[in-house]
Amino acid sequence: MTERPRRGGDSAQILDGTGLARSLREDVRREIADLAGRMRRPPGLRVILVGENPASESYVSGKTKAARESGIEAETIQLAAGSAPQKLLAEIERGNQDDAVDGLLVQLPLPPGHDPRGVFDALNPLKDVDGLHPENIGLLHQGRPRCVPCTPAGILALLDANRIPIAGRRAVVLGRSEIVGKPVAALLTARDATVTLCHSKTPDLPGVCAQAELLIVAIGRPGFVTGDFVKKGAAVVDVGINRLESLEGAPEGLRSSARIHQTIAKKGRVLVGDVDFDDVSHVAGWITPVPGGIGPLTVAMLLGNTIRAARLRMDGTS
Ligand code: NDP
Repeated sequence: MTERPRRGGDSAQILDGTGLARSLREDVRREIADLAGRMRRPPGLRVILVGENPASESYVSGKTKAARESGIEAETIQLAAGSAPQKLLAEIERGNQDDAVDGLLVQLPLPPGHDPRGVFDALNPLKDVDGLHPENIGLLHQGRPRCVPCTPAGILALLDANRIPIAGRRAVVLGRSEIVGKPVAALLTARDATVTLCHSKTPDLPGVCAQAELLIVAIGRPGFVTGDFVKKGAAVVDVGINRLESLEGAPEGLRSSARIHQTIAKKGRVLVGDVDFDDVSHVAGWITPVPGGIGPLTVAMLLGNTIRAARLRMDGTS
């Protein structure tokens, strides 16, 4: 391994998702104590997981553990990887009908053979704590959201907590998934940013991204975004979570990072984002770490959405 030359410049300020998530979860815990008294039961969250993908299993156990610590009654229903789509739809309907379930979510991605859109359609929109039912997406785009998808909500919360201006700013969102890219573009537009949504067919990605004062990256490609994509002083939010057990095939920036090599040597794997942190942190003004950036906020927002869903069903307001 050879250390590559580093760009000059100061290091970006870190956008600390872990600390913000801790304080948001504390607020949620207090609200739940109050809500549970009025409901005469704790709010309920049910997560449906299909298959045994280790990353998904770990996210789901993180979500249910955090929910229980906040006073939410949380459970996971795990279906075998080869389960028929009809079995998943029947499980969703069971959650829709269960009065003790306020929030219902299906962990993504689903194994091949399942149609995520059919899953979004099947959820009771009032229990849809991931905000992915078409009715909820429509409300979001009209600027009157019910449950905002958790990761995009976490991104906005992190920008706001760090007083990073959004209105009037040029924002580029890299990745157009239903759960991250599209909703975050809608939220930034609603907050008066001028938004460009990029994807795998966008020509000259580095040139487009380098115009952004706010750059949100969610593509699932380890270390893809280097300093060349980033405008000096920009706020860079790295949503990607990629688990690597080796650096074979990884971009040069990751292969030359002593920090990443040491983590793999010690733990057998490393979590990296879609942004080459070491390179970009010398160009950006603000940057999220991975781990410790958007991941913990996604969980905190899910807990907030569970309260919102419970209130919606109890008294029609969130
Ligand atoms: P998807 O796989 O659903 O979508 C990826 C998007 O990135 C697509 O729009 C795709 O373009 C685009 N893309 C892929 N490769 C390129 C490329 N080389 N150049 C330009 N665009 C590209 O991704 P998700 O949004 O579900 O997830 C993205 C990442 O975020 C993953 O690492 C995931 O693990 C992570 N994630 C993290 C969360 C958190 O809590 N921190 C929550 C959710 C996701 P096209 O549409 O043209 O195919």
